[in-house]
Formats: sequence, C-alpha cells, structure tokens
Amino acid sequence: MNVVVLGCGFGGVEVARTLRKQAKELDINMIDHTPQFDYPPAYPELLSGKVTPEAISHDLKKFATKIGAGFIQAKVVNIDFKAKKVKTEATSGDEGRDIPYDFLVIAIGAEQTFFGIPGAEKLSYTVNTMKGAIETKNALDTLDYSKESSIAVIGAGLTGIEVAGELVDYFKDRGALARISLVEMMPRILPALPKEKVATYVSKFLSDSGVEILTETAVQEVSEGEITFKDGKKLPYDIIIWTAGIKPNSLFEILDIPKVKGWLKVDSYLRAEGMDDVFAVGDTVYFEREGVRAGQNVEEAEGQGRVAAENIIRTIKGEKLKRYRPKNTIQNPKALISLGDGKAVMYFGGMVFKVFAYRLKKFVEHRYMKRF
Ligand SMILES: Cc1cc2nc3c(=O)[nH]c(=O)nc-3n(C[C@H](O)[C@H](O)[C@H](O)COP(=O)(O)OP(=O)(O)OC[C@H]3O[C@@H](n4cnc5c(N)ncnc54)[C@H](O)[C@@H]3O)c2cc1C
Repeated sequence: MNVVVLGCGFGGVEVARTLRKQAKELDINMIDHTPQFDYPPAYPELLSGKVTPEAISHDLKKFATKIGAGFIQAKVVNIDFKAKKVKTEATSGDEGRDIPYDFLVIAIGAEQTFFGIPGAEKLSYTVNTMKGAIETKNALDTLDYSKESSIAVIGAGLTGIEVAGELVDYFKDRGALARISLVEMMPRILPALPKEKVATYVSKFLSDSGVEILTETAVQEVSEGEITFKDGKKLPYDIIIWTAGIKPNSLFEILDIPKVKGWLKVDSYLRAEGMDDVFAVGDTVYFEREGVRAGQNVEEAEGQGRVAAENIIRTIKGEKLKRYRPKNTIQNPKALISLGDGKAVMYFGGMVFKVFAYRLKKFVEHRYMKRF
C-alpha cells in the first residue's frame, strides 16, 4: 500500500510519523514544494533577529529518510481522484509527474488573503511564509534610520500582536525611531479570543511599549506610501506588514472535492466527504460537529494528523474508524502569544497566564524542532 502525504507542515509531518510508527511495511511518500519544514510560530521573531531561518527549518528529505519515507520536492497542481494520481507542476528539466496513491492525505495548509483590497497584496509584506518573513526582515534592514520610520501592521490577531512586539525590539536594538501602528477592524485586538481580559492586558503591554493601536479601523485602499481607511483617515507608511486573514489553498479552486466556503469538507473520521481513500488535515479542513468547530492551529493540525494516519491503518486492516474530536476550537481556543522583550502570554481555558509563558513558548519550539 502506498500513502501519499501532500504538504509537509505540522499536519503532514505528523501523518507521516504516525504512519511509520504504526505500520513498518507501508510505502510513504511526502510531497512539498519547499525543501524544508519551517516553523511558522517563530516567523515573527525572525524580524527582530531572535531566531535565524536555519534554527527554525529542517531538511525534509533528511526527515523522510530518517523515518523510511520518500520525499518529492514539487508543487502539486492537480489531483485526479478517479485515477488516484497527484499531478506535479512542470519545471525546466521536468515535465511534471503523475504520482499514484492508494491513500492520499491533503495537508497543504492555508494562504494569506488580502480581501481584494486595492493595492494591499502588491504593496504589503507578510510573515505567513519563511520567504515572506525573510523579505520583510530585509525591507526593515534597508530603512533609513536617520528619520522616524512608519510601520503599519494590519490585523491584530495572534500574528499581528507578535509582529508588533518584535518590531518594538527591532527598533529598540538599533536605537532608531519608529511609529508602529497596529490596525484592527474589530472593536478590540485579539478578536478570536473570547475573553476580553487577554486583549486588555496585551493592549496595555503594547501601548506601554509605544505601539499605536487603531481599532475599528478598516483598510479601504493601499497606495504608494499611504493607507486610506474606510473612515477617510490616512496613514503614511514606509512598510506595511499584512497579517490579517487566511483563505483556502488556491489549489482547491480546481479540485472536484466537497468544500465548505472553499475549505475541505471532511467526515467525522477526517476523510474527504464521500471518499474512502482521501483524508485531509490541518488548516485545509472545515471540521464542525455539534456546534464545535476545530481551530486552524498547530494543535489541531497535529491532532488531526495522528487520527487521519490511524484511520488509514484501520481502513487497511478493515477495523472500525476513530472519530476525531477537536481540542483547540473556535469556541474554546488556546494560544501562547509572544509580546517581545522576552515576554509572552498564555490563554488557556479562558484564563490568562503570564509567568513563564515565553519560556514555555520557546520550550515548545525547541522540543518540536528536536524531532528532526
Ligand atoms: C506567522 C505565523 C505564526 C503562527 N503562530 C502560531 C502559534 O503560535 N500557534 C499555533 O497553534 N499556530 C500558529 N500559526 C498557525 C499554524 O502555523 C498553522 O495552523 C499550521 O501551520 C497548520 O499546519 P498545516 O500542516 O495544516 O499547514 P502548514 O503548516 O501551512 O503546511 C502546509 C505545507 O504544504 C505545502 N504546500 C502548500 N501548497 C502546496 C502545493 N500546491 N504543493 C506542494 N506543497 C504545498 C507548504 O509548503 C507547507 O509546507 C501561525 C501561523 C503563522 C503564519
């Protein structure tokens, strides 16, 4: 039996690891268009230089070899679910391949969205990929420090908060002046976390560090050097870092597979609805049962990866499949948010914990990277 794992982020890596632990004889092939696993929760710290790209990346071929799997570096451009083949992109010297599978796991994550706002995609930097974070850091490094810089961070979700905190450290380390504006269209920062007290704490922390927080402020248009908001106000900028919103992977637009609002629709066992041989995990899926919806985060990607792998093995053995139960949900989210200056805050069970939160975040990162 041949299992193809498409996408080698948190979900895909966990699928491959679990499959190998439980089935020594299985043929496993991992596919990703990047050659390395990158650790997204640490991307904001690339900006301040607290981490280097090398420290938060690992070679996927080496990892695959270690667990006795194959690794193919290629971008997948289509999937033929009837013929059970994955199609990779043609490049110079390679006309693209058809890779057959008995079981397929789709784990290709999500993409940044700019909500179609004029100028936003063209003129913004991002941190949602390693490449994007490195480009953002390079842009910061080429600013003219003889004058005050204006940096606009769009979106005050988890990533926007972390980016703002790292920017404070970046400019402090250089003794340079910057106006750092954190822009959020909702009435408060961290709108995805139900309890307001975490937002109040983080808001005060960032304001005390000099970050200007603009809530109920929606971007209408971005032009060279200036952002226009829906209320007509304008903000001059040197750099925009866009962190607001994700959308389904663009590959799904051409796939003939059940979806909910563009995300993959899965059954209780994480199979693509109506398919026995295709599973989906992580940021790609829309999973909701009895009013509880899985969040799009590391804990979910890994938890789903483990259950999908187990269910593939159970299917092969003809055993009853295991239901997936989400743990880090939209209704009851958990988060570890770094704030810069070696501080972080943990949100867990509606409570806010500050002591040791940063150390815990770094411990989680260190422990994760050790598996490679
Ligand atoms: C800056 C940032 C900070 C974050 N911080 C946290 C945090 O602190 N805690 C937390 O829980 N979550 C955090 N997240 C979210 C978390 O990273 C995601 O929920 C998680 O990565 C989802 O895992 P995944 O396996 O579904 O997808 P991903 O980890 O995104 O992996 C998808 C993989 O698929 C590959 N791929 C995509 N398209 C193709 C294609 N067509 N062909 C081949 N390969 C493809 C990609 O290269 C990638 O390796 C953060 C995200 C970002 C961007």
